[in-house]
Amino acid sequence: MRDTEVDPPALRRALLELAPWLAGTEVGPAVVEAGDCDRCGGAPRLLPLCGPVSWTAVCRDCGLALGEDGWCDGHADQGAAARDWAAALPDTWPTLVLLWWLATGELRAIDPTARRRTDFEPLPAPVRAALGTAD
Ligand SMILES: [Zn+2]
Ligand SMILES: [Zn+2]
Repeated sequence: MRDTEVDPPALRRALLELAPWLAGTEVGPAVVEAGDCDRCGGAPRLLPLCGPVSWTAVCRDCGLALGEDGWCDGHADQGAAARDWAAALPDTWPTLVLLWWLATGELRAIDPTARRRTDFEPLPAPVRAALGTAD
């Protein structure tokens, strides 16, 4: 029988090779709570906020849409840097972020049946191997 279990350490290594930004300590999935964007609920959280808005962490598009409103006056520079960083991410970022949380154990599963064949296919072989999806 084929083993289809996710291998978290292997997944973590493969993801870091592909996208070192996942482990960032100022912005990214490592500094926010695992889950969907506080504002739109349609993409993973990525950017911690500290501005006058009521959301504490948002996805890329929401961070860009909020602009400087997402950050307090004291963190205006950090906010601008975070938005530049987010704007430069590859379009596969939501999948990579979800996989990162899977690798770190913050998420136990990410809708494997629905996502596997579509979102995961363009990912490199080491990532798919760690997910048990490399045929
Ligand atoms: Zn959002
Ligand atoms: Zn601030």
